[in-house]
Amino acid sequence: MTFCQRRLQILLIEDQQCQVELLKILLESQSFFAVQLQVARTLAQGINRLQSGIFDTVLLDLFLPDGQGIPALTTIQKFAPHIPIIVLTTATDLNMGLAALQKGAEDYLVKEYLRESQIAKAIIYGLERKKTKRQLQTQIERERLMGRILEEIRQSLDLSVVLQTTVDEVRKFLQVDQVVIYRCYSPTTSRILVAAPSSSLLTSGDRRHSPQRGPDSNGEPTEPIPCQTINSLHPLPIAPITLGPRAKDGVLIVPIWQKKPHQEDRLWGQLVVRVGDQQRSWLPWEIEFLCHLSSQVAIAIQQSALFAQVHYLANMDGLTGIGNRRYLDHFLEQQWQKLAKSHQYLSLVLCDIDFFKQYNDTYGHLQGDECLKQVAKLMERVIRRGTDLVARYGGEEFALVLPQTNHQGCQVLVAHLQTIFKQAQIPHRGSIIQPHLTLSIGSTTMVPSPNMVPTELIDQADRALFKAKKAGRNRHFSFAD
Ligand code: GH3
Ligand code: MG
Ligand code: MG
Repeated sequence: MTFCQRRLQILLIEDQQCQVELLKILLESQSFFAVQLQVARTLAQGINRLQSGIFDTVLLDLFLPDGQGIPALTTIQKFAPHIPIIVLTTATDLNMGLAALQKGAEDYLVKEYLRESQIAKAIIYGLERKKTKRQLQTQIERERLMGRILEEIRQSLDLSVVLQTTVDEVRKFLQVDQVVIYRCYSPTTSRILVAAPSSSLLTSGDRRHSPQRGPDSNGEPTEPIPCQTINSLHPLPIAPITLGPRAKDGVLIVPIWQKKPHQEDRLWGQLVVRVGDQQRSWLPWEIEFLCHLSSQVAIAIQQSALFAQVHYLANMDGLTGIGNRRYLDHFLEQQWQKLAKSHQYLSLVLCDIDFFKQYNDTYGHLQGDECLKQVAKLMERVIRRGTDLVARYGGEEFALVLPQTNHQGCQVLVAHLQTIFKQAQIPHRGSIIQPHLTLSIGSTTMVPSPNMVPTELIDQADRALFKAKKAGRNRHFSFAD
């Protein structure tokens, strides 16, 4: 029976001519496999051959003019890490053979007792063992990679980080040209979220600051774009939507299913792996590995959606849908530190509805709630930059946080707010000063400094607001005034 259809490429590193001749004869006379033998007389020559050719097995004499014993073996191993090495020892040096086995040689042969079947057996076992070791190594690396990605999923609630880690690691591990994760919105609309090697295509954008809008906002682009746009963004063709793993023309596509409790699984996106070589056949373990990975990514998606929901609920005012006091404090702290570093202005505007108790008394609490929602909407119309924030400061009090806005800019915004409010003409029969709803406003502007705290900004705006109330309501007082 033949072990191998092709000729096995064997490199014999041996300085003694008689040994070379003997091994040649024995290798040619065995019937398990055909052999193409190359001979090197020294360690240096052996290294040269290894660097210029591809071999299945190395037969290495441990008594060479330029290298002996285990150091000779270690040297060859460096140049042939994936090739089985069988060492040749003498009957008087059996210990060296055993030591070589411990150092990673596949087998040792005693020169005095060489027989053809024994050499063939050593070579075949060596090849098989090396193959098994490689498979084991790949298995370990696969498990390590899966472990790393799982760790990332556990540690990071930022989905874009998890997705980027996934594509980077998969590309490195499978040694493919590109790994992409698409988000699928419909059978014809999808978008690339992350890609390796090109950096993530996610951009933070100039979005309005507000608590994240519920489960679908995972830091990914909110607006889907049609497939054609993707093609122009990216030189690679769009992956067809697939419901199961699909391997064709150098491309392997694995769907990512989103699981929701008590609901049918929904196609969330696709993990796409590409190689330049269209003939590349995908191994079963590669497909299985990516399917397993995609189910872990699905868990990360679910986790991050839940986190986004919790984050949203914790930071949003339930009645008006704008940021609550907790979010305001967090945002102020963040901006305070940021602007202290860049020595830029930070303005704060506090607004209090005048005679709101009377409003409730006149129209009832439910109408009062509706009124608060309307006021929140008007406030949102005032802000112009993505970095501005509107939040509910307390019962009938609202705040505007305006980063990088000086005193003058703040005055312009407040004037705009007053105009919008005046135009809205929200009826208020119970007000002593006007037949419609009015606001008292206090504002202040500071350049934050690291040795001050943001509550000082709130205190100043509050004092300004108090002055506006004292002075008769329906007016604005700025601390800088
Ligand atoms: P001032 O002009 O001095 O600000 O008087 P005011 O009546 O607006 O202020 P006060 O602090 O006396 O009363 C605030 C009122 O706002 C009382 C409270 O019931 C009402 N309020 C606070 N939160 C809510 C809410 O969520 N819904 C409703 N309907 N009313 C609220
Ligand atoms: Mg009040
Ligand atoms: Mg009030």
